[in-house]
Amino acid sequence: MGSFSVLPPEARRLEGKVALITGGASGIGAATAKLFSKHGAKVVIADMQDELGHSVCKELNPQSTTFVHCDVSKETDVENAVNHAVSMYGKLDIMYNNAGISGESQYNIPDNTQADFEQVIRVNLVGAFLGTKHAARVMIPARKGSIINTASISSIMGGTAPHGYTCSKHAMAGLMKNTAVELGHFGIRVNCVSPYAVLTPLTKTYYNLGEEGISNFYSNLKGKVLTAEDVAEVALFLGSDDSKYVSGHNFVIDGGLSVVNSGFCMYPQ
Ligand code: NAD
Repeated sequence: MGSFSVLPPEARRLEGKVALITGGASGIGAATAKLFSKHGAKVVIADMQDELGHSVCKELNPQSTTFVHCDVSKETDVENAVNHAVSMYGKLDIMYNNAGISGESQYNIPDNTQADFEQVIRVNLVGAFLGTKHAARVMIPARKGSIINTASISSIMGGTAPHGYTCSKHAMAGLMKNTAVELGHFGIRVNCVSPYAVLTPLTKTYYNLGEEGISNFYSNLKGKVLTAEDVAEVALFLGSDDSKYVSGHNFVIDGGLSVVNSGFCMYPQ
């Protein structure tokens, strides 16, 4: 059963819940799969990296964790992943639309390609749309559920990522707000988590960061480094009943970075 551990019953915040996590084979998604499992959830990891996805499952409780191959930009794959969760565990309580790509690290628009822009939108935005759509399909009859999208500080700020990525993440926040309005009628909550930079395979290539590089990245909150586990803690809150009245919220996890205007600030930087 690998390094799997489960908390005592009174400490488990997702006991009896079923969660589907896209992009759960790596980074933030894998950290969330581990934390959700620890808190008693049954977890389905949906990803394109089959080997890695299976190895994350092996570390967790095999009785309550499964992997399903899924390209979130393909509707049949997303539909199948949701159906898989329901057929394995009888329902879906938490849909975590987390899969994402950065696209090419290209900051000058004349050199941006239409193909790369469209691919980033297809995975990050269309993927979250399809995940929300198919989760809603099974959550509406149950009159409950929590849908979480991993957006980014690029959902509220310009200049932190290439155009395709920033556009996809801004639009994810719009998707979250619109669907929170519609699905609130059925008792379903929809929220975003929006992290600042976390060291994962995505950022390693994207910002060309080494292991130490992330702590040297500009940040507002000194002496701490944001990790995938920190993001998972916020997803746990949003997935659990502790957040039962939280919906339509873009939960920024950036140590205060996005409220600083570094060009005009009276305090030491
Ligand atoms: P990661 O590369 O470690 O994980 C992303 C996962 O998504 C991978 O397992 C990958 O296989 C999967 N994936 C990619 N395309 C897919 C597709 N079409 N279908 C299914 N799965 C697919 O990166 P991460 O940093 O953990 O990223 C997770 C999410 O967090 C992304 O949406 C990313 O945009 C967002 N995010 C990351 C950071 C950061 O600094 N790492 C900051 C803000 C937001």
